[in-house]
Amino acid sequence: MENFDKNRYIEECEAKLAEKFRQIDNIACFNQAKVCDAFAENRIAVRHFAGTTGYGYGDEGRDCLGKVFASAFGAEEGIVSPHILSGTHALTVALFGLLRPGDTLFCISGMPYDTIRGVIYGYDNGSLKDFGIKFCCCDLVDGKFDYPAIKMGLAEAKVVYIQRSRGYELRDAFSVDEIEEACAFVRENGFKGCIFVDNCYGEFVEKREPTEAGADIIVGSLIKNPGGGLAQTGGYICGKAEYIDLIGKRLTAPSIGLEVGSHALGYQYYYQGFFMAPHTVAQALKCSLLIGEAMAGLGYKNYPPLDELPHDITRAIEFDDAEKMVHFIREVQYASPVDSFVTCEPWDMPGYDDQIIMAAGTFVSGASIELSADGPVVPPYIAYFQGGLTYEHGKYALSKILDKIV
Ligand SMILES: *Cc1c(COP(=O)(O)O)cnc(C)c1O
Repeated sequence: MENFDKNRYIEECEAKLAEKFRQIDNIACFNQAKVCDAFAENRIAVRHFAGTTGYGYGDEGRDCLGKVFASAFGAEEGIVSPHILSGTHALTVALFGLLRPGDTLFCISGMPYDTIRGVIYGYDNGSLKDFGIKFCCCDLVDGKFDYPAIKMGLAEAKVVYIQRSRGYELRDAFSVDEIEEACAFVRENGFKGCIFVDNCYGEFVEKREPTEAGADIIVGSLIKNPGGGLAQTGGYICGKAEYIDLIGKRLTAPSIGLEVGSHALGYQYYYQGFFMAPHTVAQALKCSLLIGEAMAGLGYKNYPPLDELPHDITRAIEFDDAEKMVHFIREVQYASPVDSFVTCEPWDMPGYDDQIIMAAGTFVSGASIELSADGPVVPPYIAYFQGGLTYEHGKYALSKILDKIV
């Protein structure tokens, strides 16, 4: 395009987004208050940041971190741990804690995220299926819950599973209102078991979490939203006390539960990251909208729609062309603070069926609350863009992307 004034174009996109940005700031303020209240309620002090060793009996930092998350998320109890190795691991521990041989796991939000599939029905790999736990899944209809189909599956189910975010699917994330409606529906239809939400990428995007809207358990990763960009690894599980107790026994040992677990490096970054998270999530949401608006203006379809507030921090951008997708992802890498000199290539990755290309020039390895982009290199060639610790970084990355694609 000749005479393309990049800076003016970015300013025009920002002007269109001004009202959304104001709403996002408003949500961040609300959530900041929730987090501060959770810190105050649990009387967090400097001693909670201290490291412990060995068994970690009486580790107050560990115990109170779980309580702070639980308070902020409107849950009874919480497990927050650097010993949870990823979101997939958190989900695995939680599911194995809740389900017993002969039980059925019923997913009502379509096929779950790629890495969870092997956990649920992998063959001879120690999956839930190997332990005699059945799986049943209800597809979405036009991206929405299929209530008549859900009703039919409920009688068998022990755990009803909802994935809030899109994962590598084109559907949009569920709003907390939609999750609330689904929770109410399964209860009205006599479901007595556990309503379980994969909350990855959803934390602090809205004013409420699923646990404040009828869900019994929420699970997520600390190198996404609730780690605020500071947590160096880990995951969390929050919800009803009886379920957290069962899950704690699976995380450690059935005879021991949540009494053990030390972390010699201490917990400061986990507390501080959670304190930062409402703000960091707002930055990521603004980056997502700015990139979305700019790409849409150049003719690239992307989701979620730009005329409403997003329900998670991810953005799916459709390229319809492998090369364009790869170029976009490479520019995100070139705009990164770490490994900016690296050129991304598609690769086979554990837990995924297709080749994945991933830009993650992040301080915390693989952290997708930091500016990152990835996706399976298969038609219709969709790049999933997420994160951005600062809005300014997102804007810088956009500027480089525009240099390349216009
Ligand atoms: C990120 C994510 C997970 C967990 O992934 P990890 O890479 O193991 O942390 C699970 N579900 C969804 C929807 C996710 O976005």
